[in-house]
Amino acid sequence: MQNDVANNMEEMFVPIKEYIKNEDSLELIKKAYLYAQSMHEGQLRKSGEPYMIHAIQVGYNLAKLHAGPSTISAGLLHDVLEDCSVTKDEMTEIFGEEITMLVEAVTKIGNIKFKDEKEYQAANHRKIFIAMAKDIRVILIKLVDRLHNMRTLQFQSPEKQVKIAKETLAIYASIAHRLGLSEIKNELEDLSFFYIHKDEYYRIAKLVENKKNERDLQVTNMLDHISKTLKAQNIEFRIFGRSKHLYSIYKKMTTKNKRFEEILDLLAIRIVTKTELNCYEILGHIHSEYRPIPGRLKDYIAMPKMNMYQSLHTTIVGDDGRIFEVQIRTEFMDDIADNGIAAHWAYKESRKYDQNKEQKEIESKLSWFKDFVNVDAEASYDDPKGYMEAVTTDIFDANVYVMTPLGRIIDLPQGACPIDFAYRVHTEVGHCTVGAIVNEILVPLNTPLKTGDVVKIKTSKQSTGPSEDWLKFVKTQHAKNKIKNVIMKKETERKAEFVSKGEQILKEELRKRGFNEADYLDKNKIESVVAQFRLSTYVDLLYAIAVKSVSVVNFVEKLTNQKKSVNLDNESIEKIYNREMPTKNSSKTGIKVEGVETMMLSLAQCCLPIHGDEIIGYITKGSGVKVHRVDCPNIINEKKRLIEVKWDDISEKHHYFAHLLMLSSDRNFLLTDIVTVTSQNKAMLQNISSDVNNETLTVTTKMIVQVDNFEHLRVLIANLKKIESVINVNRIIQ
Ligand code: MN
Repeated sequence: MQNDVANNMEEMFVPIKEYIKNEDSLELIKKAYLYAQSMHEGQLRKSGEPYMIHAIQVGYNLAKLHAGPSTISAGLLHDVLEDCSVTKDEMTEIFGEEITMLVEAVTKIGNIKFKDEKEYQAANHRKIFIAMAKDIRVILIKLVDRLHNMRTLQFQSPEKQVKIAKETLAIYASIAHRLGLSEIKNELEDLSFFYIHKDEYYRIAKLVENKKNERDLQVTNMLDHISKTLKAQNIEFRIFGRSKHLYSIYKKMTTKNKRFEEILDLLAIRIVTKTELNCYEILGHIHSEYRPIPGRLKDYIAMPKMNMYQSLHTTIVGDDGRIFEVQIRTEFMDDIADNGIAAHWAYKESRKYDQNKEQKEIESKLSWFKDFVNVDAEASYDDPKGYMEAVTTDIFDANVYVMTPLGRIIDLPQGACPIDFAYRVHTEVGHCTVGAIVNEILVPLNTPLKTGDVVKIKTSKQSTGPSEDWLKFVKTQHAKNKIKNVIMKKETERKAEFVSKGEQILKEELRKRGFNEADYLDKNKIESVVAQFRLSTYVDLLYAIAVKSVSVVNFVEKLTNQKKSVNLDNESIEKIYNREMPTKNSSKTGIKVEGVETMMLSLAQCCLPIHGDEIIGYITKGSGVKVHRVDCPNIINEKKRLIEVKWDDISEKHHYFAHLLMLSSDRNFLLTDIVTVTSQNKAMLQNISSDVNNETLTVTTKMIVQVDNFEHLRVLIANLKKIESVINVNRIIQ
């Protein structure tokens, strides 16, 4: 296409007159041409050429795609609203609403501004897709507009060249591919490739050039051999060698990590024949003559690609051991392969353009595109990159073709499962899926589908909706978004329940402690306290209380400015001890003093010995013997009043208290875990209090536990240390 240009009205009308015979239609195009010419009069492009040259190229290339007269006219006028002092109303008066609408849509796409950040780019790409989907003809005009702009990109600044080239590759080449406009796609790709990776472009161009003579010779030999074989069969055909465009070589080298020499289809042959039957006959003859490489036969005739591409592909080993990719197709298929959708309607059109019919025909062919964009308009993309992913995985990398029981072909990415299929069929089908039958066999929902599978989805109105597990195996972004939407909705509902439950708990706690709700449930007051729990809103707090990641007791204490925990002084400990554990009697402390039966014994409150600890007795003045741990700092320097004591064999269960100090990093549910582990270890938690260090984000937890003996405590400490995020646990002396 590169050198195939029109420079004036006459040249532009050559391809138009081939298929548009209707006088009125030709008049309309002529009128648009003259109008654009007068409006762009005196304007120059950056190249120094008259602006009209650009409009002519757009009209010409649309004609080569066999576009209808409205589309060509809009193409000629596409820059008039933007660049000339013409208003929408004036244009409507002269050319009618339809053409004006097309021009306006094209203008709007041009005005979508790009920002530098990648994310914004993706968001803008999406805007472009949506804008184009409003009327499919807008895509065609925009594509040929971009094609000419790319051809003349050398007149832009280097920064703009790269920016425009990237956009072209991401959007316009992709769409061209999707529409099967492979000539335009290839040219857009190679031009973009040139501006984005100049070094690589030149390197590959040179490699191709170096190999050219050798390759040409090999291909020529192969063409001769195949021609001889086929001529003997009386089949009508034409055969030719085909070279891959540079960008596709580059892509294969980078994405498949292959060396230049390894790229198989560098040597490629195409055979074009009359009928479908001829295609299969030719395939048969070639396979009987040359060894086919297993697994490389692709029948896109029986199973057309989504962009309507049809062809037989096979890879064979040539006479000298060289590998060739052979494509076999009819003339019609060949035209579709080059011009995609455009070829399709050109064949079917009665040549007498009826505007509505033109529109309808194109629209129906491109319904996939509308579906695609509508789906996206519905899903909210917080992450615009996710959108680009959706574009590439869902649409452009489609390569598994499966069928509904009624024979409708659904294309899916590699590895897609019945859930992906269900969501492609219909969102509701996806949501209600309970089972899948593939080729009449019931299969698990995560079974990867293969091309040719006939898939039937079992649905149930009683289904509880998509499961979060599905996200682990669905492949299409489309299905992922639909599933996520439902899950998010459910979560929001569940959260609302928790929030109201949290509110109840909070109010109850306040009431229980005799506070007046109204005094404390003041928004400002609450939010200042909420921050201390590193939450941002009251609602977050209520949720946290309901799921117990924040203790309502702690919160209420902070809110009401009460002390966070009760610090036990000696007196209160004494009370506990007196209540819980009488210590005046040797049998009850489990301690005995050799040779003395009646001495008053009690456990020292400072170090709280536990059965099994190494202990020593201290003879007090008037209150018997206090038993300390041998390493207790209070007696360590004592020399005179010590007396040896021993633990009695345990005949009955005694309870001892131990003070523990735990260091951990902060997290939700830590307290819950501590309580759980303690009770699992059959120890009783007497008191617990913690302090968060907001700088180090560590928590210091003090606890008093009641245990049976030293071994019991040792096991408890070992298990407390196993709790997630716990750094250390130590028994301390008060
Ligand atoms: Mn333009």
